Amino acid sequence: MLDILRSIVTEVNAARSLDQALVLIVERMKTALMVDVCSIYLVDHDSGELVLMASDGLLPESVGYVRLGFDEGLVGLVAQRAEPLNLDNAPDHPRYRYFSETGEEWYHAFLGVPIIHHRKVLGVLVLQQHAEHRYDEDIVTLLVTIAAQLAGAIAHAEASGGIDGLQTQRNLDGYPLRGLPGAPGVAIGRAVAVSAHADVENIPDRPVDDVVAEQDRFLEAVRQVKQDVRAMVDNISDALPAADSALFDAYLLMLDSDTLIGDVTERIRAGNWAPGALRETILEHIRAFNEMDDPYLRERAEDVRDLGRRILLQLQQKNAKGMDYPKNTILVGEEITASMLAEVPAARLVGVVSVRGSRTSHTAILARALGIPAVLGVDDMPVGRINDREIIADGYSGRVYVNAPKEIKKEYRRLQQEERELTADLQGLRDEESVTTDGVHIPLYANTGLLSDIGPSIQSGAEGVGLYRTEFPFMVRDRFPGEEEQRQVYRQVLEAFAPRPVTMRTLDVGGDKALPYFPIDEDNPFLGWRGIRITLDHPEIFLVQIRAMLKAAVGLGNLQLLLPMISTLSEVDEAIHLIRRAHHELLEEGEAVAMPKIGAMVEVPSLLYQIEPLARRVDFLSVGSNDLTQYLLAVDRNNARVAELYDSLHPAVIQALKQVVEGAKKHRVPVSVCGEMAGDPAAALLLLGLGINSLSMSASSLLRIKWVVRSFSRRHAKSLLGKVMAMEDAKEIRAYLTRALEKKGLGGLIRAGR
Ligand code: PEP
Ligand code: MG
Repeated sequence: MLDILRSIVTEVNAARSLDQALVLIVERMKTALMVDVCSIYLVDHDSGELVLMASDGLLPESVGYVRLGFDEGLVGLVAQRAEPLNLDNAPDHPRYRYFSETGEEWYHAFLGVPIIHHRKVLGVLVLQQHAEHRYDEDIVTLLVTIAAQLAGAIAHAEASGGIDGLQTQRNLDGYPLRGLPGAPGVAIGRAVAVSAHADVENIPDRPVDDVVAEQDRFLEAVRQVKQDVRAMVDNISDALPAADSALFDAYLLMLDSDTLIGDVTERIRAGNWAPGALRETILEHIRAFNEMDDPYLRERAEDVRDLGRRILLQLQQKNAKGMDYPKNTILVGEEITASMLAEVPAARLVGVVSVRGSRTSHTAILARALGIPAVLGVDDMPVGRINDREIIADGYSGRVYVNAPKEIKKEYRRLQQEERELTADLQGLRDEESVTTDGVHIPLYANTGLLSDIGPSIQSGAEGVGLYRTEFPFMVRDRFPGEEEQRQVYRQVLEAFAPRPVTMRTLDVGGDKALPYFPIDEDNPFLGWRGIRITLDHPEIFLVQIRAMLKAAVGLGNLQLLLPMISTLSEVDEAIHLIRRAHHELLEEGEAVAMPKIGAMVEVPSLLYQIEPLARRVDFLSVGSNDLTQYLLAVDRNNARVAELYDSLHPAVIQALKQVVEGAKKHRVPVSVCGEMAGDPAAALLLLGLGINSLSMSASSLLRIKWVVRSFSRRHAKSLLGKVMAMEDAKEIRAYLTRALEKKGLGGLIRAGR
């Protein structure tokens, strides 16, 4: 059963269109399960009816013709109840409805299971048989398993070119794709689809002008791969068991074969660029291998994929330099990494849209640092078909339009204009103080990490840096930076802001932040070796960093240190011990270093129960609300599938913050919030009410938050908090705070326009 399932799912994922996928499913299932009929009905969202989309067994003319409501027939009943229906004699059932076009009168046994994605019924998968009998439980569970796996693929196909009534190639144009707001603002521009290197299955199509040159480029890549494979064989043939070197022989054979090479060059001739032509060919070959009964041959599908990856890597290496970015580039991909962002000339990048990620993923944080709108977690986006299309990305609502209709585009152009006006108005606040209307000063600090952030942070009027993420300078190198190298980077930041304080966080890698030269392979990286856990295990790395920071601050005196990912008090003790040691040793070496203030990040829930002993140990606390929310709610901050559950306005997070403020107050230790919450106008209003002492956020949010601070009194914020504390649901809380902002005329901070 598992084998059947695996091969069906692989084939469906490799199918070129939804139509093809549906036909494949019904044919494979009918044969594998030896039933008389297998059919798929999908919901037509316009009419709300179920439409027969594919069938192997019913009369072909009924496909696309038979339609029924949720309150009609057995298929409707399955959809209505959202549960399987297993009948030995369907015509006996009171809900049975007969469609003459189908030839259904011949069938008795009926098994229908719903296809459900994100709690929504997308369709029904049906098996039928002449004989009267009830399907075995393992057939039912197999069908349920297949339906669950297909649901994602169908939802994706629907949104990206799938079902519009009965047309299977729905135009993408004009329908908004839905994702999560990543960074505020509206971007209108051209999509440039990028993919992780050598991700052969997600390479987009792209038209090619010079067919001959493209074919040559491809053949050259193949030649290079052949050479590499031969060199590999020479290298390891002595050490390798015969079976494994046979694998390389098979590679060489495939690279010489006319089918693979010929198919790709043919597709290039038809107008697709080499990587796109390669993707189509490789997927077709994978499909062919997957269809084979012999398990050994089926395994060869993996070899084809690997070979495809190698050729692609060659093509990409030759391509990377020549990439042309249009003036208004919106970077689009499954995942947008820091290096992809870095490849686009800053003046050309206007937006980011990705399938994965969410508001607090590091891609979003980078986009906000760069001040460009971002929509993430658009899991229905057809990356392969979107290149070069005109896109509108609304970083407030999380909507993405492809080739939007004229009126929508006009409206967004208007909103963009309003955004520009709003930004200009906000600029007027730059030199104003961040005080509430009843005179409470709430210092606003910037979050930085890249040297290029310094300028915008200073321009935003930040009173200092509340979080300098030191991992960014570590991420863009190919080895750990040395003490002097680090000192110079830190010095630039400290000098740029002096005398304003700069809070430097010690290295916080692990989780979703990997160093290319220090790979960590773990099942649960967010619960694993991360932040202070790594640096305490590697005092040599920690001490070099601390020494570099202390030396960088000589004569400036504006350095503060922040310890990330603290879950246990002993970690604070050990870290402080090491910092003191570094300080002491540097003094002995004759450096005029000063002992900085030391703070701890509150981002692991265990600390909520130890706030007082923690506060006794440090000079300040800084709440990392991104991780605190993730750990408190047990919701991966990067996982689009559970992103609905991730909300820093969850009552539990608010209670936690209250506890932190109260505990710290007893020891007169100030509390700051440096997670993305601080830059979210609705949340910032709440933090004001909670009595948080300062806020740190990306420079692009700073003036917006200053506007919030200056528009409310602490008393008003406290009374809003009082109301919020009685609420039980994050959505209700957000709606309430949004209304409060709108009432003060600050709606433009939370949606497009003014
Ligand atoms: C946080 O967790 O809120 C935080 C500020 O740190 P990072 O986003 O870098 O994990
Ligand atoms: Mg964190």
